[in-house]
Amino acid sequence: MGQADYYEAGTWNQQCDICDEKVKANKTRLIRPYAKSKPSWVACRKCQHECNPQDFVKGVVDKQTVPIVRRPGVDKFRTQEVTYDDL
Ligand SMILES: [Zn+2]
Repeated sequence: MGQADYYEAGTWNQQCDICDEKVKANKTRLIRPYAKSKPSWVACRKCQHECNPQDFVKGVVDKQTVPIVRRPGVDKFRTQEVTYDDL
């Protein structure tokens, strides 16, 4: 018999995803990561820990455009040889 093998009204047995122990569901917590692509997991009270602050970091869009955009000008190259008088 495990520590969760008893009757308690309104709850059920559940397995902790971290330590794999059988615990009552009212003593667990569903941990959902910020990124929806990552799976959520069930943790017992013993395994619950502070979330890493990096789990809640949101990306900030870095707008690297200027408010007014002009078409690039035509490049102008000298075709003549530069002499001392041109300087
Ligand atoms: Zn656990």
